[in-house]
Amino acid sequence: MTTVIKNGTVYQNGRLIKADVLIENNKIKAVGENLSGDQVIDATDKLVSPGLVDLHVHYREPGQTYKEDIHTGSMAAARGGFTTVGAMPNVTPVPNTPDLIENMIKLNHEKGLVHILQYAPVTKDQTSDEVLDYAALKKAGAFALSNDGHGIQNAQTMYLAMKKAKENNLIIAAHCQDDSLYQKGVINEGAKAKELNLPEISGLAETTQIARDLLLAQETGCHYHICHVSKAASVELVRMAKSRGINVTCEAAPHYLLLTDSDIPSDNAYYKMNPPLRSKEDQAALVVGLLDGTIDFIATDHAPHAKNEKDGGFMKAAFGITGSETAFSTLYTKYVKTGIIKLEKLLSLMSDAPAEKFGLTSCGHLEAGAEADIAIFDLEHETTLEEKDYASKGVNTPFTGKKVYGETVMTMVSGKVVYTRGE
Ligand SMILES: [Zn+2]
Repeated sequence: MTTVIKNGTVYQNGRLIKADVLIENNKIKAVGENLSGDQVIDATDKLVSPGLVDLHVHYREPGQTYKEDIHTGSMAAARGGFTTVGAMPNVTPVPNTPDLIENMIKLNHEKGLVHILQYAPVTKDQTSDEVLDYAALKKAGAFALSNDGHGIQNAQTMYLAMKKAKENNLIIAAHCQDDSLYQKGVINEGAKAKELNLPEISGLAETTQIARDLLLAQETGCHYHICHVSKAASVELVRMAKSRGINVTCEAAPHYLLLTDSDIPSDNAYYKMNPPLRSKEDQAALVVGLLDGTIDFIATDHAPHAKNEKDGGFMKAAFGITGSETAFSTLYTKYVKTGIIKLEKLLSLMSDAPAEKFGLTSCGHLEAGAEADIAIFDLEHETTLEEKDYASKGVNTPFTGKKVYGETVMTMVSGKVVYTRGE
């Protein structure tokens, strides 16, 4: 049984080409002109992309499945055109042991509609100073390490973690936050915090920990990855570290590219995330960082919460917003339609770049022999993001109501269609 995706514009290895894509079973058999197959998917006037890769999602299972579960989270990913995701380990119980990692991998496989890679924690329960047995966690199937949601407060802990991660050839993906500077704020420092009379989060809470960790990465040689950089100074530190040969990569999350703190209309916690929305200057630095390669890729930090957890304003609400279903279309509309970022670049930042930076050979590329993980997007028609359409249990996004281009038409994982628009 073969399927052919006909007449699309195909993103392949940094270029856009007119081609058909032939799929046999779970693999791409050929990319070229005038291909035929048993089944035909018409992609005339559509973009055919490698399935997007999002190395930063929160699926809440086990422990908080009222917010999201692996099935709904992965449906949301598929609806956004993602076919491979990296799931953060802030679930309950935290998968501190090989047995728990194996269980997560089993759940991800059984319940996930997309490929779900599993992070193990850096330290026990993600908050302690007890560095875990990385060799055993890797053997159990963990693909990288992260305490996302928490910064590692103790420099010696991070130093030992990086040494051990290097020995085991594992990446540490760090949520950078020095709690002594963080001071339980809820919104970026500046005019908006004063206008809304809310406690501020200093940018130094992020940047000082990045500076510390870059020195530790230099010393240990560990591949150090920074989650959701939000400050201009963070971008500058990474640029300097890269120029000195330090083994560092970093990601930007869509919301920091789409909004700044001045866009927060009122005390509405759909704009509350951690790190917080920053200033226009910070956002401009992120865009420069994306364009010059300082920022390696885009990851959503998809963080679903129940509605009542996002009610009641910034002081009461949980941090975080969803992202899987809005990332590509919102970024395409704001940056590609306007000519600031080329389509090829945005697709690279969301497919081959995260795969390559994390050494993942099984995703991010659309070519003969690759896994048939494919997304088809409609770049021509404007649509409105509506709450009723979300596959995620979480509706906590400030982008509902936004008019966008770049809706997902179809998502295929290992040769199987897992999402079709309108079905
Ligand atoms: Zn985080």
